[in-house]
Amino acid sequence: MKILEGKTAIITGGSRGIGKGIAEVFAAHGANVAFTYSSSAEAANALAAELNATGVTAKAYQSNAADFDQCETLVKQVLEDFGSVDVLINNAGITKDNLLMRMSEEDFDKVIEVNLKSVFNMTKAIQRTFLKQRSGSIINMSSVVGVKGNAGQANYAASKAGIIGFSKSVALELGSRSIRCNVIAPGFIETEMTAKLDPDTVQGWRNAIPLKRGGQPEDIANACVFLASDLSAYITGQVMNVDGGMLT
Ligand code: NAP
Repeated sequence: MKILEGKTAIITGGSRGIGKGIAEVFAAHGANVAFTYSSSAEAANALAAELNATGVTAKAYQSNAADFDQCETLVKQVLEDFGSVDVLINNAGITKDNLLMRMSEEDFDKVIEVNLKSVFNMTKAIQRTFLKQRSGSIINMSSVVGVKGNAGQANYAASKAGIIGFSKSVALELGSRSIRCNVIAPGFIETEMTAKLDPDTVQGWRNAIPLKRGGQPEDIANACVFLASDLSAYITGQVMNVDGGMLT
């Protein structure tokens, strides 16, 4: 039997990058996958079709994770479509980088809303379901930047550090009902976004990583499989760095 067979996961921001990698790896391990996107409808629907062809049930939903009401509606719809939910992965995130001197209030607020408020929105929306079934695994995507900070990313670092405090609190509140909440802190993961960067700069980053390579979406997805599955049944409130040794 596949390790996630019979489980249904909601993944926010599944249309590309890390979220897409998680959706693909989860489907390969037998999970049914409901994933969201913001605007990439074509890519999202193509991914849903690709996953359905593998024999699991998958569906793409346009839903703004920063919007409380849209998250409530989304979870209701997923429950109607899939019958149950076992895993929530809060992966959707954005950057609006600038030195503090030049960072606008709007760019600070936007990053906090999409990266941090979204985690509150989705956790609130799924909470009743998980409490009723007395089980559930919540996985929140932070970043090495949330653990150690980064010049030019004060807004992003604040949002990612906030996710850690939020997740540890949820783990304490919901542990007695067998609901687990953990955090993954990815390092430098090579996605379409990083493919556009200057190759010499990217090679410099790779050389500085103890494992001498950037991470792939699958590296993050594999950690998510572990935290979603019953193999991690006694693990909650933890931050797992998946960064090739960057923070060592
Ligand atoms: P990405 O390639 O930019 O993909 C972001 C995903 O989030 C897309 O599916 C996007 O949908 C979706 N999204 C954006 N805003 C949304 C919103 N308001 N509501 C719902 N979905 C939304 O990003 P990534 O590199 O895969 O990163 C995924 C997560 O990992 C983020 O939380 C990021 O902070 C974190 N992370 C990434 C790295 C890295 O090196 N890549 C490192 C550490 C942490 P559309 O396609 O429709 O825009």
